[in-house]
Amino acid sequence: MNLRQTLLTVVLIASLLIGSCAPTMLLAQPKETTPEKVPQTYRSRNFIVHSDVTPEKAKELLERLETMLSLISTYWGQPNRKTIECYVVDDLKNWPSGAIDPAALDSILGQAGITLAKGISNGRQFDMNAKVYAVSDLGVPQHEAVHAYCAQTFGTTGPVWYSEGMAEMGMYWKKGDASVNANPIVIDYLKKAEPKSLNEIVNGEEFTGDSWQNYAWRWALCHLLANNANYQKRFRPLGLALLQKKNTSFEQVYGSMAEEIIFEYLLFLENMEAGYRVDLCSWNWQVRPRKLRGIRPTKIDVEAKAGWQPTRAQLIEGQEYEFTTDGTWSILENGEPVNADGTETGAGKLVGIMFEDYELSEEIELGALGKFTAPANGHLFLRCRDSWGALADNEGEIEFQIREFDADAKPLPMPGE
Ligand SMILES: [Zn+2]
Repeated sequence: MNLRQTLLTVVLIASLLIGSCAPTMLLAQPKETTPEKVPQTYRSRNFIVHSDVTPEKAKELLERLETMLSLISTYWGQPNRKTIECYVVDDLKNWPSGAIDPAALDSILGQAGITLAKGISNGRQFDMNAKVYAVSDLGVPQHEAVHAYCAQTFGTTGPVWYSEGMAEMGMYWKKGDASVNANPIVIDYLKKAEPKSLNEIVNGEEFTGDSWQNYAWRWALCHLLANNANYQKRFRPLGLALLQKKNTSFEQVYGSMAEEIIFEYLLFLENMEAGYRVDLCSWNWQVRPRKLRGIRPTKIDVEAKAGWQPTRAQLIEGQEYEFTTDGTWSILENGEPVNADGTETGAGKLVGIMFEDYELSEEIELGALGKFTAPANGHLFLRCRDSWGALADNEGEIEFQIREFDADAKPLPMPGE
């Protein structure tokens, strides 16, 4: 084997094409004709941006990119080592011919973006340079910059579901804010469509730039796993291992929790809206239910600022139960405190649901005091009724007591007694 052959076997020219940010294809607005502007070059700590947007917009874009980069490099625990070069196009007519890489032209014309990464890789070691080409609006430069950071930092961007799901998250990421703020069209689609199975998202025959709908599913899965208290601890190491091409898979990491993840994924799709907080609505799998016996009630505190919460009470279909509550809560920051009957419109009312075999019953209207017949067998969960996207500003908790109804027993205390 001569030297030339040795070099050829060891050194591979690696090339990644990371494709169009699909949501923008749907959302592209008809452009106002912009006055002719010559592309200028702008720099910040980690970025060099060539763009024909106004200097004010360019400055704002650099700030958004730096903020996003700081969030994602903290998340992955790897500082950005190389400047990320971006071509951000407002109107292609403003650009001299040849200024944009021909491989990126279709994406720009399609009102989307693409990241072209080229370099040398011999397995473990790599030296990649990524260039971002993106239209100027709707978060496309941010989405593509996530790919560029991954390509330059890890030599790869990971499998499609992870790469595109995380790039979409990067586009929406706000510091200290875990709430859902995806495009309303994306949220609306996810709520109405037949849910795509996790297996289809993770293992489907899918490719980058395929369709905005596929991007929506990838975002939903990554957002859930990154924010849900039950899964987030495993999600970051899984992502890092995928980026570092270590031998791992979604199935290896989450296989033992598959039923739990599917249950929470479907619940997320059902209740998702702007402002929804996956972290506040994580299901509590630790608390095990018990059958209620005798006249001693089971007591539990229910927080206003959370999704369904376990009571430990395993109810039996057809059996009558009585309950009482104590305390007040509010469904707005510094809002008017109300008891578990809620307001006149029913907001802030205590409601229940039964969980059995990863299925939920219809909601049960409870309130501050009363009796009800269990509609099914199952573990009773409770929450303060409020829009799913508006839990974060709720305050207070209410004590709840429940037992089998017994006409001869001393009545439970009245609310506030
Ligand atoms: Zn992408």
